[in-house]
Amino acid sequence: MGRRGLALVVAGPSCVGKGALIQNLLRSCPEVELSISVTTRKPRPGERDGVDYHFISVAEFERMREAGELFEWARVHEAYYYGTPVAGVREAIEAGRTRVFELDYQGAGSLREKLGSDAVLVFVLPPSFAELQRRQRQRHTEQPDEMAVRLRTAVKELSHTNLFDYLVLNDDLEQASQELQAILQAERTRGSRAGYEGLIAELLAETRRVIG
Ligand code: 5GP
Repeated sequence: MGRRGLALVVAGPSCVGKGALIQNLLRSCPEVELSISVTTRKPRPGERDGVDYHFISVAEFERMREAGELFEWARVHEAYYYGTPVAGVREAIEAGRTRVFELDYQGAGSLREKLGSDAVLVFVLPPSFAELQRRQRQRHTEQPDEMAVRLRTAVKELSHTNLFDYLVLNDDLEQASQELQAILQAERTRGSRAGYEGLIAELLAETRRVIG
């Protein structure tokens, strides 16, 4: 039996730095695959279709949902639909690979439900409310009413932290990135997925043979 892969879910309030943490993880661990979600939200300046998201219409989203092409989906920010394409999710885990998902708390719950312990759930916390607001204002891409919606979504996110396996405080991005990488490394060596059954059997057999 080989090594088993895992689905690493990163969630947390809007602008807490999930994207930057994931980008750092992909740089440090180039073997990690990124799940690119579909969304009905319009692209922000600088966002690229097929890189940040697959930007699709509501009609296309509904078609994908009905056709069973989404592993999970959720309505986020009281407005838009987001979904994880089903393609390759289970295959990646079976093949021993790591796939990272940036999801809201609903998506994290769905992955836990569908994948059990193959899903590792990480929630990213800001160091304070003031800092979260500062990061949200810095993004400058939302109108004030949209900011209010994002704060209401943040309340929902923060009310579901008990669902998660790990909490990472993103005060210093470098330190938080190291913590996320450490979580991944530790999870890869978890007994049930490390894939050392063959080695252990061989060690046992040899040891028994020698002691007679
Ligand atoms: P945005 O990109 O609009 O700033 O934030 C979208 C929110 O929806 C974030 O909290 C993000 O983690 C979440 N999200 C993005 N893609 C998906 C997805 O495929 N499924 C779910 N459930 N949530 C997603």
